[in-house]
Amino acid sequence: MNEQTIIAKIHEALVEQGRPQEEIDEIHKAYEFAKKLHEGQYRVSEEPYIIHPCEVARILTDLRVDKHLIMAAFLHDVIEDTDTTPEQIEELFGEDVKNLVEGVTKLNKYQFKSKEERQAESFRKMFVAMAKDVRVIFLKLADRLHNMRTLNYMAPAKQQRIAQETLDIFAPLAGRLGIGKIKSELEDLSLRYLQPDKYFEIAQLVAQKKTEREQTVNMLIETIAANLKQNKIEAEITGRAKHYYSIYKKMKRLNIAFHDLYDVTAVRIIVNTVRECYEVLGLIHSHFKPIPGRFKDYIAMPKGNGYKSLHTSVLGPRQKPLEVQIRTKEMHHIAEYGVAAHWRYKESGSVKADSTTDLQYTFMRKMLELEQESSGAEDFVEHVKMDLFTNQVFVFTPKGDVFDLPLGATPIDFAFRIHTDVGYKTTGCLINGRIGQLDTKLKNGDIVEITTSKKSEPKMHWLNFVVTRQAQSKIRQWFRKHKRDEYIVLGKSLMEAELTKAVFDEVVKSGELLNIAKSMNLTSVDDLLALLGNGEISAIKLMNRLKVDVQKNDDLSQFMSHNKIRSCKQEIIGLEDLMYQLAKCCLPLPGEPIVGVVTRGKGISVHRQDCKSLETVQPERLLEISWNPDVVNNGKKTYISAIRIDVDDKMGMLKDILMKITDCDTNINYANVKSNTNKKLGIIELGLEVSSVERLNYVINQLMSMDSVKSVKRVPMNSNTRLYVPSGSKKKSKK
Ligand code: MN
Repeated sequence: MNEQTIIAKIHEALVEQGRPQEEIDEIHKAYEFAKKLHEGQYRVSEEPYIIHPCEVARILTDLRVDKHLIMAAFLHDVIEDTDTTPEQIEELFGEDVKNLVEGVTKLNKYQFKSKEERQAESFRKMFVAMAKDVRVIFLKLADRLHNMRTLNYMAPAKQQRIAQETLDIFAPLAGRLGIGKIKSELEDLSLRYLQPDKYFEIAQLVAQKKTEREQTVNMLIETIAANLKQNKIEAEITGRAKHYYSIYKKMKRLNIAFHDLYDVTAVRIIVNTVRECYEVLGLIHSHFKPIPGRFKDYIAMPKGNGYKSLHTSVLGPRQKPLEVQIRTKEMHHIAEYGVAAHWRYKESGSVKADSTTDLQYTFMRKMLELEQESSGAEDFVEHVKMDLFTNQVFVFTPKGDVFDLPLGATPIDFAFRIHTDVGYKTTGCLINGRIGQLDTKLKNGDIVEITTSKKSEPKMHWLNFVVTRQAQSKIRQWFRKHKRDEYIVLGKSLMEAELTKAVFDEVVKSGELLNIAKSMNLTSVDDLLALLGNGEISAIKLMNRLKVDVQKNDDLSQFMSHNKIRSCKQEIIGLEDLMYQLAKCCLPLPGEPIVGVVTRGKGISVHRQDCKSLETVQPERLLEISWNPDVVNNGKKTYISAIRIDVDDKMGMLKDILMKITDCDTNINYANVKSNTNKKLGIIELGLEVSSVERLNYVINQLMSMDSVKSVKRVPMNSNTRLYVPSGSKKKSKK
């Protein structure tokens, strides 16, 4: 087809779709621009290059996509093949079109080579993740479809590679997006180049059976025509051969020859309403014997990609098995053009005036609707959601193998993903050809080359930034094996810090520690200490175990509770008799949610759940704890809380504030006063002794009610500077 004919067809389709004239003009402008740029360029087929973008635009126009995507189709090769810059495209056609063109240009950089299925899946995911906007995938699919249609001009080796890539990556993507029409064509075209013998055999046999197929359909129509008329059902009945690749797959799966394959022919019946679908199904089943186990109701349970239809197989007119699909016009449209077409169909086939509506948004919305409509959509929703909201990154080896890693993964994670030995021997890395840091967070599409050396060993500090479990456990494993002695020493010193040397020696001598080691399937105390030193078990966990075992031993338990472990009357639930302190950074009070953090050698640090310092704490160090209401509600015990009061810098303010607090029957532990004369602001930091957060809030409210107080905030404890300690603050204050 020549350029003018293609453009005429596109124009015709745009008009038929009811698009406004301005929109058609804009699309035409994109075409004219691309035409000028590709002037003088030719394809391998010796056709003018512009034919290709025109055909891609035509494929997308038929999918009824929005105008920006059609414009981007015309422009999709100009960044790569001409001197045009993204900025020029943005200036002329807007940011959205520029983003689409840039998106597809970026995807073109990647070639898929591996034959592994898992690799193919990663590659598909990477495509979707990189595309960000699902429209870029539509554009890429249309581009690939036209390239496949013209593949016969390419050299055989290239044909093979592109056909394989199409079958592995692009046909499944089209399937997942529900564009059955493109998926089938991509598969059939791939088969033609990958298995030409099979392809032409199937094509020939399908052609031979054409007459037979037509007769079957006619007989079926004759049989049910009267009933259809009687029930006033308008039905369009067509017979067709299944597409070649699906026949090929079935032959391969069942390991049979073509002439044994009975259901090459399928009959499709298209009606107006869902109700009619079931009525027609009833008719078919009353005239032809259904084959058990072949009925599928994809209307009640749509397929993952949104596909709906009734499928049944019956013994057809010649007592030969026949597959019948029954669906409404709308269902048919969706089966051909995908979920993206759904909403447009609902709007009676015309495109809304506001055709810039983001297809991506519509697509997502449609998916959510699908999810609600049926549980059968799970598969699709799960896949596409995972794809679109991915928290994975896809990283390449220089050879083009792709690996998916969790977000935040570093070159070390990547190295261990390639091979454990690569991980162990890593010395450095190149990211996209440049020397990179080993703790760099990798991005989608990064090409990473790991440099190794035979003599190199893993580094302990890698554990601070690796995010994959694989890398973590492999690094630990290595150190456990190679640095055992050092870990034993470290583990021992950790235990001594917790217990004191005397108690530690005691639990070793008494055999308690060995018992614990044995209960953990270890053979010696050294094994246990090594694990502790390596960080694979926490000191606190070990202390817990010890405590249980130690209680049997009166001397020891007495020693421990008196000397080392703060007696706490179960003030906090979840800590039992563990050593702990309230964190100075957030000073938690009874009545507010708290969390425990296991520290090295200092027991548990108790923080407020909203404490900022928790952001950097490894989750495995967190303990679930809470205040014991029985103990803290009696209000006898007080806790220190620090507040900062910003006041108008008036003389005598401090005195007023201290008076107010004393009126609240609250002790002051320390005070720190600063004055900023420039800003006319006074800052007073106070340590208060309160029994609960309610009590503190009461005091704060009282302070806020004072005219010259601008704000009151809780702050970390400032224990270094005690400029002012009111007299009697250690005891209950007197009025
Ligand atoms: Mn192209």
